[in-house]
Amino acid sequence: MHTQPAPTPTHCPYCALQCGMQLTPDAAGEGVAVTGRADFPVNRGALCGKGQSAAAVLSRGVRLTGPLVRDPGTGRLAPATWEAALDAIAGGLARTRALHGADACGVFGGGGLTNEKAYALGKFARIVLGTSQIDYNGRFCMSSAAAAGQRAFGLDRGLPFPLEDLPRTGCVILVGSNLAETMPPALRYLTELKANGGKLIVIDPRRTRTAEQADLHLAPRPGTDLALALGMLHLLVAEGRTDEAYIRERTRGWAEARAGVMAHWPEYVERVTGVPVPRLRAAVGLFADAETAMVLTARGPEQQSKGTDTVGAWINLALATGRPGTPLSGYGCLTGQGNGQGGREHGQKADQLPGYRKLTDPAARAHVAEVWGVDPAALPGPGRSAYELLDALGGEIRSLLLMGSNPVVSAPRAAHVEERLRSLDFLAVADVVLSETAELADVVLPVTQWAEETGTVTNLEGRVLLRRRAITAPPGVRSDLEVLHELTARLSPGLEKGFPVEPEEVFDELRRASAGGPADYAGISYERLAADGGEGVFWPCPATDGPGTPRLFLDRFATEDGRARFVPVAHRAAAEEPDAEYPVYLTTGRVVAQYQSGAQTRRVDELNKAAPGPFVELHPRLAARLGVVEGDEVAVVSRRGRAVAPARVVGTIRVDTVFMPFHWGGAGRVNAVTNPALDPVSRMPEFKVCAVRVERVG
Ligand code: SF4
Repeated sequence: MHTQPAPTPTHCPYCALQCGMQLTPDAAGEGVAVTGRADFPVNRGALCGKGQSAAAVLSRGVRLTGPLVRDPGTGRLAPATWEAALDAIAGGLARTRALHGADACGVFGGGGLTNEKAYALGKFARIVLGTSQIDYNGRFCMSSAAAAGQRAFGLDRGLPFPLEDLPRTGCVILVGSNLAETMPPALRYLTELKANGGKLIVIDPRRTRTAEQADLHLAPRPGTDLALALGMLHLLVAEGRTDEAYIRERTRGWAEARAGVMAHWPEYVERVTGVPVPRLRAAVGLFADAETAMVLTARGPEQQSKGTDTVGAWINLALATGRPGTPLSGYGCLTGQGNGQGGREHGQKADQLPGYRKLTDPAARAHVAEVWGVDPAALPGPGRSAYELLDALGGEIRSLLLMGSNPVVSAPRAAHVEERLRSLDFLAVADVVLSETAELADVVLPVTQWAEETGTVTNLEGRVLLRRRAITAPPGVRSDLEVLHELTARLSPGLEKGFPVEPEEVFDELRRASAGGPADYAGISYERLAADGGEGVFWPCPATDGPGTPRLFLDRFATEDGRARFVPVAHRAAAEEPDAEYPVYLTTGRVVAQYQSGAQTRRVDELNKAAPGPFVELHPRLAARLGVVEGDEVAVVSRRGRAVAPARVVGTIRVDTVFMPFHWGGAGRVNAVTNPALDPVSRMPEFKVCAVRVERVG
């Protein structure tokens, strides 16, 4: 008789909410039951369909179970041994380094990698390959909010307060976030806010399911929310509703920022954004009347070629009304990827070292070099940002090691990125499934995933969590940490001792490397994470007997003088505005049943039933003008490419805008259309707005 295995408390493999779940292997050891963990405060037992069905990707019919190497004879990927696959990768990278130099080797990581993997990958790139060319797909997720947060507060942590504060504030402005589809369990916080009498303002060009919940929905033209924020701040100043005492005591730079908003008259802002002045005034009224209030941004304002300034404008609005660093108030970014937060803190971002240290800071280099046992001078400087790195493939970058990312679907101007990947001398991909990017590789390594391994992740609140192994991976599968250990042994024999395969050992080194840095994990241990009831510990947490920091900035901001900075910003147009040839805005986003590039979720039957493919959402008036009816195949065409999908005619979108979700490759790949124009500070591509024409197909 089989005994029922004990459930393992862990966390979802997908988004940054990192919902708590229990995994219970069935008695025969063939499947895993997933249930929400009621004791985890973030989701309190609730899971969305993606989390509920996550175990499907563990099944052997779905996941990769053995290495693949491209056969030079047939040109096809064929099963190979681990030894052969690892030798081929080490050989490919070593050849490139010998022929073209270390910077001709690129490394591309993912926002889903655990903290340990992100840390080890950054260390591997810098001290084994000696390359500066490392970045990750999290650049496409949160970099504008991170840059704006650094500028204003001296520190970037997605939310500087726990989500549990949301229902108790007086007003929330949600800018460019569709929580109802991206993080459904988090919608509860907004429902509770309203039940408590708080007000919700949603800013989105579409009347989404989240916007349906709002007391006030403003639908600006894509790419104009910077002007909207400036218009609101103009009205606050004009009505004398700024918090002068807070501004005097806790900020700098108000005079310049204030001067900048005075040109943004409500009527001008209405012309730019399409939001009528009375609605602008109503938003200002709700926000200013509330004793406590929050501004939360997501990909809408962030994924723009002026994303840093756009987020900066919303931060200025929050600062001018005395919100950041005061109880139940503030500014926060709703990070999207599972470990988008931790991934950027520990060294896989082009300009950062572990602990959120800057690669250009001599003291930071010295500290991390000592932990790594190398000369600080041996550490390369900052490299290219994600899109720039992908764009350089086949040119200055000849070989690429890619872990946990699918840029063929998720990068902007994706057909060009695909062509760049094809032009490489050598491409190695470590992933759980054979993604569209893995299909192009010379070598594919099957690696362990969430339920098959232990590791830490950091959710959107800055809460460090322990994901525990619940099942044993199939025999042909190894962890990313083992891959990096083995590659190091081949490329720099002797150095592999610095690349342990046990996640806890890596984490203990990460703690030392992060000690004293902005994202200080020194006081967080596996033992503590396992013993704390599974609620996690908020960074910074420098001491093992210290409590962690759920709420930041209450006494001072992380700037030298402890004051937040207003940064003067001005509205500017999107990199590409509609014209006679491409007369419509395109904006992109997600649907509830798919996640990111869909590499995992498109392999789950029940999710595919709910969201079987891409679509083009357009307004009935635009549809009538184009002669398009519901279900017609339409092509969305930009200067970079086209995507074809069935039309969905809805009254919930602006008449000048079409929307497509970005989870699919093939003919419906909307990122073939999107614009890679980059923000000058964050290097974020402009996913959220470009000019297109829409054509009926056939
Ligand atoms: Fe997983 Fe995010 Fe869904 Fe929670 S909301 S179950 S973390 S995908």
